[in-house]
Amino acid sequence: MIARVSLELALRKEFDYLIPADLAGQIEVGSRVQVPFGPRKVLGCVTALAGDSTRVKLKPILKVIGAKALVTPKVLKLARWIGEYYCCAPETALKSVLPEAVRREQAGWRELLHVRALPLAGELPKLAKRQKEVWNIIEERRELPLTELIEMAETTAATIRRLEDKGLIAITTEISERDPYAREHVLPTLPLPLNPAQARALAAIITTMDGRQERGSQSPNPVTGLRLTGSRDSPSTLRSISATFLLHGVTGSGKTEVYLQAIAHALEQGRGAIVLVPEISLTPQTVERFKARFSSGRLQTLVAVLHSHLSSGERHDEWHKIRQGRARIVIGARSAIFAPIDPLGLVIVDEEHENTYKQEEAPRYHARDVAIVRGQMEGATVVLGSATPSMESFYNCQKGKYTLLELPERADDKKMPMVRVVDMRQTMRGGKGVPIFSPQLKEAIAQRLERKEQVILFLNRRGYSTALQCPLCGFVAGCPNCSISLTYHRPEQKLRCHICGHTELVPTVCPNDKCRHPGIRYSGLGTQKVEETLLKIFPRARIKRMDSDALKRKDDFRRILGDFRAGRLDVLVGTQMIAKGLHFPNVTLVGIVYADMALHQPDFRAGERTFQLLTQVAGRAGRGDIEGEVFVQTFTPFHPAIQYSRRHDFAGFFEQELEFREQLKYPPVSRIALLTMKGRNEEKVKFSANHLRHELEKAVGEMKGLIMKGPAPAPLLRTETYYRYQIMLQTPRMSILSHHLAQLLPSLAWPEDVVVSVDVDPADLG
Ligand code: ADP
Ligand code: ZN
Repeated sequence: MIARVSLELALRKEFDYLIPADLAGQIEVGSRVQVPFGPRKVLGCVTALAGDSTRVKLKPILKVIGAKALVTPKVLKLARWIGEYYCCAPETALKSVLPEAVRREQAGWRELLHVRALPLAGELPKLAKRQKEVWNIIEERRELPLTELIEMAETTAATIRRLEDKGLIAITTEISERDPYAREHVLPTLPLPLNPAQARALAAIITTMDGRQERGSQSPNPVTGLRLTGSRDSPSTLRSISATFLLHGVTGSGKTEVYLQAIAHALEQGRGAIVLVPEISLTPQTVERFKARFSSGRLQTLVAVLHSHLSSGERHDEWHKIRQGRARIVIGARSAIFAPIDPLGLVIVDEEHENTYKQEEAPRYHARDVAIVRGQMEGATVVLGSATPSMESFYNCQKGKYTLLELPERADDKKMPMVRVVDMRQTMRGGKGVPIFSPQLKEAIAQRLERKEQVILFLNRRGYSTALQCPLCGFVAGCPNCSISLTYHRPEQKLRCHICGHTELVPTVCPNDKCRHPGIRYSGLGTQKVEETLLKIFPRARIKRMDSDALKRKDDFRRILGDFRAGRLDVLVGTQMIAKGLHFPNVTLVGIVYADMALHQPDFRAGERTFQLLTQVAGRAGRGDIEGEVFVQTFTPFHPAIQYSRRHDFAGFFEQELEFREQLKYPPVSRIALLTMKGRNEEKVKFSANHLRHELEKAVGEMKGLIMKGPAPAPLLRTETYYRYQIMLQTPRMSILSHHLAQLLPSLAWPEDVVVSVDVDPADLG
C-alpha cells in the first residue's frame, strides 16, 4: 500500500510513501506520520491511500503519531478549501488545523501511578503494623494515586510495593487528565423560560437543525461533495438552503441563553457543537456559563475549552477529549473551528463582527467564514451573534443568504443606557488647550463616586502621550524602524514604538541639531495620562488602569476585574480590553474619553469600527438595577458613526454606510484581495510592485467587474524596517480570482529580499 503525504514544508506538492507491513493497519487518511525527506525526517499528514504509485523506489513511512487519525477526512476537506480560497499552500492550511501540542506531540498524556486493591482470595495474609495501616486506606478507597497514598499514610513506596508482592494490590500507570478548570467550582443551571423574541429565534434555529438532520439521515452528507471540492466557491456564494442565522441582539438581550438551548437541542440529536468566542471574551465567566449548563444534569457532557492561555499539556488533553468523542461541546477562540467534533450539529460564532476571527498570518482565514463553509460541508446549522453585526453579515441577510433573527430588547428589562455626546470643540474656548475631561463628564464622575457607583473610562490608546513634539521646530520623535511616532511611557520614562517595540530614553532637549529647544512637549493622549489626571482631580478615588502595559503577571487581568466586581475599585480606565463582554451591575457611567481616535484610521472600515466600539463600550453601562449613562467626548459630534450609535440605531448606520461602500465598490458589495510586497530596499520593493501590477493585468485584467488599485505605499509604509507597497484587487467573484492568483504568484520570481503576500478578505488594510 502507498500513502500520499502532505509534508509540513510549503512545497505545494504531495509525496508518495510506502506503508511498511508493520504499520499497515494503523495508517488511514488523516494520520500524522514521520517520513524521510532527503537527509531529514519530516512530519506530515496522509491525504490519500492508493494501491500503486507512478513513482519508483518509494521510501517507507517511519512512524505513525497517535492511535487514531488526527485529522478527520472532514477537517482535511475544510483545510483544502482554505488553501484554495485564501490562496496559500495546502500544507500551510493543513498545519493550522491541529493545535501545536497535538501536531508535534510534544506533550503526551500525563501518566500517574495508581494503586488499586485486588479482590481478596481467602483470608487477609499477615501484615506488619505499618503495612496494615496502609492496607486499611487502600481497602477503603479501592483505588488512588500512589503519591496521594504515600502522603496520606505517611509511608514509603517500598512499603506499598510489599503489599504488591503479597498480591493484595496492583500498581498501574493511569492517564491523568490535565483539566484547566479543575479548581473552578461550577454550580449547575437550568434553562431559563425564554421571552417571545428569544423563543422565536430558538424555534427558527431548531427547525432548521431538525431539517438538516432528517436530510442527513438519508444521505450522510447533503452538501459535501456537491460543490466544495470541485468548484471554488466563496462562503457567500455557497447555497444549500440557508442554514446560517444572524442573531442580532442588543447587549444583554439574552443571546447566550438562545445559544445554550440550541446546543442542548444538538446534544439531544446526538450531535455536538462548537462555540467560537473572541479570545478576549473567553473569560472564566464565559466558560462557566457553558459548563454550568452542560457538565451536570440530564445532558451531562464534557465541555472542552481551546484557548491560547492553556499549557500545551492542557491543550493536548482538551483536544483529545474531543477527538475521542467524550467532549461534545467545544468553546474556543478562532482555531477551535477545526475541532474534530463529529457529527457536528451546530456552530455558534459569538461577536461575529470581531476582527480577531481573522488570522493575520498564513493561512489568513476568517473563522466566521470557515464556520459557514464547515456548516455547509457537514450539514450543521451556523448561528452568528452580535449586537453590532458586520456589514458583510447584515448584507448577506438582506440578500437572503442568511436568516436574520432579532432580539431588540434587553432580556432583563434593563433600559438601554442614555448616551450623551459631548462636543469637545466647546471645551477648547479660552485657549488653554484641550482638557481630558469635559466639565460634564467630570461632574458625572463626581456624582457616581459620591453615590458609591462605579465608572468605566475608555480610551483606545495605551501609554502616556502619543507623541513627543518640539513646539519650536515641529520635530516629532519617530521610530527608526517604522513610520509612526513613538509613545511616551511615563512609569519607565521611555519612548516606545507600539509596532516593533523599539525603546528610547526621553530627550530633555529637542534632538534636532539646528534647534535644541529645551521645551520639548508631549502631545496626544494615552491611558496612563487619563489615570494620572483623574487621580489629581479625585485624589480619594480608587482607580486602576487596565491595558497591556498594566498587566504584568498572568493573573493580573482576573485580579483587577475581581477587585472591580467586588467593589474594591471605583474607576476602571482601560483600552479595548475592557470594551467587550464584561458585565458589572454596579457600573452606571461609561466615559469614552476620545471617540475620534478610531475614526481617523486610514481604512474604509474606520466608521464601522467606531460604531461597533462605541456601541460595545456603551453596553457596559447600566447592566444592574440603576439606569446607565454614557458620555462620548468627540471633536466630530455629527459623524454618522457617533450619531447612530448614540441612538442605538444599527439599521440606520448600516443603510448610510452601505451607500458609501456601494459608491466605492468596497465590501460587502465586493471582495478584496490585498497583495503586499515587502522588503528593506524601498526602490526594489516599488519596482517589484510595478512589475506585479503588469503581470496581474495580463493574468486577470480581463476579469469581469475587477478593479485594480495601486501599487501604492501601505498606510503604514514602513514597519519593523520593512517597506511595504500594496496592490488592491476588488472583485465580485473572489473564488475565481484566488484561483488565478494561486496559479500566477508561484510562477513569478522576485529579487531575493522582496516577498509578496496575499490577503484574501483582509480585515485590516494596515
Ligand atoms: P447577551 O449575550 O445578548 O449580551 P446575556 O445572555 O448575557 O445577553 O443576557 C443578559 C442577562 O439577561 C443575563 O443576566 C441573563 O441571565 C439574563 N437573561 C437572558 N435570558 C433571560 C430570560 N429569558 N429571562 C430572564 N433573564 C434572562
Ligand atoms: Zn517601530
